[in-house]
Amino acid sequence: MRNMNEDILIVGGGIAGLTLGLCLHARGISCRIFEKTSEIKLLGVGINVLPHATRVLHDLGLGPALDAAAIRTSEASFFNRFGQLIYTDPLGTNAGYATPQYSIHRGDLQHVLANAFVARAGCEKLITGISCLEARDVRDGVSLQFEDNAGQSALLVSGRAVVACDGIHSNLRKQLHPQEGPPRYSGFNMWRGVTRWLPILSGATMIRAGWLETGKMVIYPIRDNIDVEGRQLVNWVAELARPLVKEPRDWNKPGEVEDFIAAFEDWRFDWLDVPGLIRGAEIVLDFPMVDQDPLPFWTQGRITLMGDAAHPMVPRGSNGAGQAILDAECLAQLLTEEDDAGAAFETYERQRLEATSKIVLINRVAPPDTLIKEVIERTGDRPFDNIDDVISKAEMAAFQQRYKEVAGYDLATLKMKAK
Ligand SMILES: Cc1cc2nc3c(=O)[nH]c(=O)nc-3n(C[C@H](O)[C@H](O)[C@H](O)COP(=O)(O)OP(=O)(O)OC[C@H]3O[C@@H](n4cnc5c(N)ncnc54)[C@H](O)[C@@H]3O)c2cc1C
Repeated sequence: MRNMNEDILIVGGGIAGLTLGLCLHARGISCRIFEKTSEIKLLGVGINVLPHATRVLHDLGLGPALDAAAIRTSEASFFNRFGQLIYTDPLGTNAGYATPQYSIHRGDLQHVLANAFVARAGCEKLITGISCLEARDVRDGVSLQFEDNAGQSALLVSGRAVVACDGIHSNLRKQLHPQEGPPRYSGFNMWRGVTRWLPILSGATMIRAGWLETGKMVIYPIRDNIDVEGRQLVNWVAELARPLVKEPRDWNKPGEVEDFIAAFEDWRFDWLDVPGLIRGAEIVLDFPMVDQDPLPFWTQGRITLMGDAAHPMVPRGSNGAGQAILDAECLAQLLTEEDDAGAAFETYERQRLEATSKIVLINRVAPPDTLIKEVIERTGDRPFDNIDDVISKAEMAAFQQRYKEVAGYDLATLKMKAK
């Protein structure tokens, strides 16, 4: 039995940190999670978790809790800005995967993970309200310096090794890569909101419509049956070209509908009143679409990076949370096979850095919705009479297949892995 000083220390109690805590606990490896916020609140809006990552969560026994909190997304439907259907791609179990794709409120996902971690590992293992400033690789372990919410920075914690799961503004990433600038702006801003709305299309459809230059919408439900009329909580993201306004980039910054509604004012389709959905929002957040160039390394001695701290990506392929979950499972497994944490970190980096770098890069140029751009170019951004005259079904399927292969969740690969 290891003592407290030999815990794996996890900085950040977001999706990566909590999943890593659960994966380590399931393998009998002691850990502690240190989270900056003083409590795990319902922060953020919608998030998607693809089948390769939900398999990890199901293996952790979280399937029933996720089914109660989330929507099992059944298909992705692509539209032009005139509301015409281009293509529908089945998703999750509807496409033959063993586990579903979930659309879920980020806060609900974080709560499912945090509740399970506290119930299994004990509440003393999740320490909130302290922020990690620095990590030192010392003899036989690591030493972390924290400040609390009152700004007291004398807190020192030692452990076996540290995994930085502290998100896109990671302090420990800055420590390992001091020359790196702030997250790289894509030129497109996202206004993200949630609206109480009756089910749209199948009630489990992920909708992508339009393109970035003239305005793009991503819409999907994240909670079912929230009132007696059977409304859902519907997540939407409006994406539009805009010069970068100002820093800092804060996930919780409120947004103004008037800053972007003009681009969607005439989006009144027979299947959805888009301006009505936007205006009915109970919360609107404003966040620039950012990522970072892939790093040359994540690991220094007994310090390594995970999730958004390691590979922040533009959210255009539903892969941010999922890749964080896959990182967590990979590292937890390696730590069971290798007692030397530094050596396990090196192997983890070899297995995950290149794979996630490819996703960061493909998300910039060819995420799944590039299909819509292709149709816009072929039609001169005008309505079409018949989509089959514009692009064949096989070509459209190939767009989706390419992305799934790079992101590691094409059906054939997952079936092979399951054998
Ligand atoms: C408040 C918030 C809202 C978000 N909303 C959305 C959303 O609506 N849609 C979406 O697609 N993605 C959202 N994200 C990002 C999304 O969660 C990640 O892209 C993805 O899930 C990968 O998770 P992660 O654990 O690597 O990072 P995150 O989920 O960002 O988690 C990082 C965690 O580290 C904590 N932390 C940061 N610095 C320190 C420190 N110095 N010491 C200790 N703890 C620290 C943060 O408080 C946070 O809990 C949000 C992130 C945050 C923090």
